This record gives sequence, C-alpha cells and structure tokens, in this order.
Amino acid sequence: MEPIDTFDEMKLNDKILRGIYGMGLEKPSSIQKKAIPQLLTTRDLIAQSQSGTGKTATFSIGTLHLLDMESDKCQALVLEPTRELAIQTERVIKELSKYMECKTHVCVGGNSVRNDIDIIKNGVHVIVGTPGRIFHMLRDRYLDITSLKLLILDEADQILDRGFKEQLYDIFHYVPSDAQIGLFSATMPQDALEITKKFMKDPEHILVKTEELTLEGIKQYYIALEREEWKIDTLCDIYEAVCINQAIIFANTRKKVDWIADKLTSRDFTVSCIHSDLNQQERDNILENFRSGNCRVLISTDILGRGIDIQTISLVINYDFPQNRENYIHRIGRSGRFGRKGVAINLILKNDVQYLRDIETFYQTEVQELPSDLENIF
Ligand code: ADP
Ligand code: MG
Repeated sequence: MEPIDTFDEMKLNDKILRGIYGMGLEKPSSIQKKAIPQLLTTRDLIAQSQSGTGKTATFSIGTLHLLDMESDKCQALVLEPTRELAIQTERVIKELSKYMECKTHVCVGGNSVRNDIDIIKNGVHVIVGTPGRIFHMLRDRYLDITSLKLLILDEADQILDRGFKEQLYDIFHYVPSDAQIGLFSATMPQDALEITKKFMKDPEHILVKTEELTLEGIKQYYIALEREEWKIDTLCDIYEAVCINQAIIFANTRKKVDWIADKLTSRDFTVSCIHSDLNQQERDNILENFRSGNCRVLISTDILGRGIDIQTISLVINYDFPQNRENYIHRIGRSGRFGRKGVAINLILKNDVQYLRDIETFYQTEVQELPSDLENIF
C-alpha cells in the first residue's frame, strides 16, 4: 500500500481533520503516512517506528475513524504498560476528538474501581488502560466489549513480554474474533513477533531495520568509571556543568532511585523521583510537575522508560545501564522527540562495557566517550 502524504488525502472525516490541525499537526510523519491508511483497511497491523515519531496519533486517528458515534458501546480498547502512559494516550485521543462526541476513559490500577464502573455504565467509546484493571472490568462483567472493533497494544513488545502475557491472553478471551488488532512499538524483537502469530490474522508489517532504530538527533555518550561509588559525584559534575532544559535520570531499582534523590537533595540540588512504590496520586503529581517544567530533573525507574512524551527533555542519563537492549532504545528516546535534539549519557562500570558494545553492534550506532568540555555535547 502506498503511503499517503497529507492528512487531507486520507479520507478522514472532517471532525477528525479539525482535531488533527487543531493539535498543530500539519503534515503526517513517515509512520503516519504508512500506518494510518493501513489501519483504515481494518486489516491487522504490526507497526514499528523510532521513538518520538508519532505512533500515538497514528493509532488514535485510526481509532477515531472507525467509531460509530450512533452507538455508545465500547468499540476500541488501547492497552498500555503503565498508568502514566494510559493517561497520556487518553489525552491525545481526547484532543484529537475535540470536535466529536467521543467518550473516552482511562481504566488503570490505583484509581477507584467504583468510578470506573460508573463511567463505563454510562457508555464509553474508547477505553485506554493497563491490562490488569481492564481484565478486572471484563471478568467482573462491568465492561462489555462484544462490539469491539479495534484492539491496540501500544509498547506491544512489552505487553507481550512475561509480566503481561498471561493477562493479555485472559483479555483476548473477551475480544471478538473479527476485531482488528494493531501493535505499535519502537522495538519489535523476534520473540515478540513470534507470539503475534498466535492471535493475529495475516497482519501487515511495517518494520524498521535495527540499524535505523537509533535517532540521529540523539547523541550518545559514556563515562567509564571504576567504582559504583563514583557515580554520584560524576552525576553532580554533569548536573553542574551542563545547562539543560529538562533531564531524566534512570536507575534500575526503586531503592537506588530513592537513594540518588536523597544524595542529590542533600547536596542542594532540586530533584524529584518516581517509581511504583509511590501511590497513584503521588505519581500523577510528580509527573504533572515535571510536564509543566516546575520540576526539571526527574529520577526514575523503567516505569517512565517507555512512551512518556515531554518535548523539553533534552538529556537522559543512565545512572545504571539498562538491563536489555530494547530498554536502552526506549530510555534514550525520552529525549529527541519528533526530530528534536537530545543527549544520552551512560555511566558505565567494567561489567557494563560488553553490554554497551553489544548495543553499538546490534543497532549499528556509536556511543562516544564523554568529552571533558561538556558545553559542546548538545
Ligand atoms: P511515539 O509514540 O512514536 O514515540 P508520540 O506519539 O509520543 O511518539 O509523539 C511524539 C511527539 O510528536 C508528540 O509530542 C506529538 O504531539 C508529536 N507529533 C506527532 N505527530 C506529529 C505530526 N504529524 N506533526 C508534528 N508533531 C507530531
Ligand atoms: Mg509511544
């Protein structure tokens, strides 16, 4: 199928088009040119494209196009791996559907079940949520998806991975067999693609070569350190030396995230931290503060490793090296959104060197040693 170069030519209805232009999207991105027309054919789709290239609007536009607004049945379900992403995606759908009477709802753990039940009872066209809470709603028969037309798995490879797979299969029991399925992610490892054969019908594939997956706009650096204890001073040096808009620092455990935040705070740096031990209200507040720019440096576990779209993030620091190569791509992709420039700095111990080399080889990319004059790294 030929890509379509303008939103106007995609035969979308006027209300969606007004939503698109109202959001300031003028021209479709490469994935949008290919995948929106493909979704409209109602054939199953596996779509991969680099981080920050507009996958959310792609499946959101596809979703809105197929809704029958005469009915108030749930017709589309979007699964996200984290509550934060579900909230973010629902906002995009809401904005795109500003000129439609579309009813959307975020259905995630940590929120009131009672509230979910009440809202769903009143009729919702599109539900965006995390697998756990959505399964709960289906199992207890609060949510009826017998009229479902489209199921989207965003960050599909993560949702198909161990932690979620069982829950996903449970959800599939309720999905009508003729519903269209769309998978989206920046990374589509072979084992994830293998699993899709079990539940997708002759899907169309739009895939990216691994050597084209890292973005040119994101410069990648490493600093080799002999001891873990030296990381914190190194981090402070970077913090003081570079003038950043906003930065996100990733560590591998909740404990480490708290520890780094304590250390930085005790040295009079203003930082916030986020991980899954916090309650949902706290998580929401912290992320909102970060989105609004009130907080400029956020320390996080992989909970924000994927999907979070904040255009002012220009620096990503891997305090701990990520534990798999997909997470590396996702983490550094928190900067450099939609063609912007970004910088990723990896603090590397001896044991990480091999992983770093593997990543360079696998993605055919280059991670340079951090130069001493940090002013020129952007
Ligand atoms: P992905 O899911 O591919 O990582 P997102 O869907 O989060 O990327 O989009 C990244 C950013 O690009 C968002 O801020 C979004 O508003 C913006 N964006 C998406 N499509 C367009 C477009 N056609 N023109 C301009 N900006 C866009
Ligand atoms: Mg995304």
